[in-house]
Amino acid sequence: MATIFTAWQGVQERIAKAAAASQRQSSTISLLAVSKTFPSEAIRSLYLYGQRAFGENYVQELIDKHAALSDCNEIIWHFIGPLQSNKTRSVAELADWVHSVDRFKIAERLSAQRPEHLPDLNVCIQVNVSGEASKSGVAPAECMELATKICQLPRIKLRGLMCIPEPTQDLTQLAKQFTLLRNLQNQLITAGMDTDTLSMGMSGDLETAISEGSTLVRVGTALFGARSYPDNSSLL
Ligand SMILES: *Cc1c(COP(=O)(O)O)cnc(C)c1O
Repeated sequence: MATIFTAWQGVQERIAKAAAASQRQSSTISLLAVSKTFPSEAIRSLYLYGQRAFGENYVQELIDKHAALSDCNEIIWHFIGPLQSNKTRSVAELADWVHSVDRFKIAERLSAQRPEHLPDLNVCIQVNVSGEASKSGVAPAECMELATKICQLPRIKLRGLMCIPEPTQDLTQLAKQFTLLRNLQNQLITAGMDTDTLSMGMSGDLETAISEGSTLVRVGTALFGARSYPDNSSLL
């Protein structure tokens, strides 16, 4: 318990320092606790300390943890993993946010399946900023068109953009990838879309992401420790 609390405080300090270094208010950067592969009890501990936003990558884990933590009714669930179209319904019903929309078909299904009694589902478009063939995300050149189409759908609200850069020790190369996302976001704003979220930065690179304008960092390892990924495709 003490350990996870200390880790949580440590991450908040890193965010505060990085914000100060860029003359930003740390209140403009939110912390998403990425709890994938960790048990509900780990989420509950952080929730009791005051953390509200939690991120999950696998639909089945979202379903299980949502049920196990139904009494923690202020949790804001973010789905951040790859989403197949046959799995969108649970996400539309259980999540408050989806960061990984990278094709119109997924957005259409989330829109159609979002229950009417719930507030609009917040979505971010995932952009492939590194150009690696293996990475999910829309190509930067296609971001504007996808965003324009998503904005016309009911019951989902485009909030901004998300990226997972190519890991590199070269901070200039890393910053370039974050800058690309910020520039795309500025284009959406210029085109009249009221997007406010730049979901970028993880345990290893949150300082660089914040210096490039991140408004939401997604942090797993630095809070919960190293993951041993379950080798189990049924989780996907
Ligand atoms: C796992 C994951 C994270 C957290 O990564 P850490 O390096 O553990 O902080 C952030 N974003 C996405 C999309 C992830 O899948």
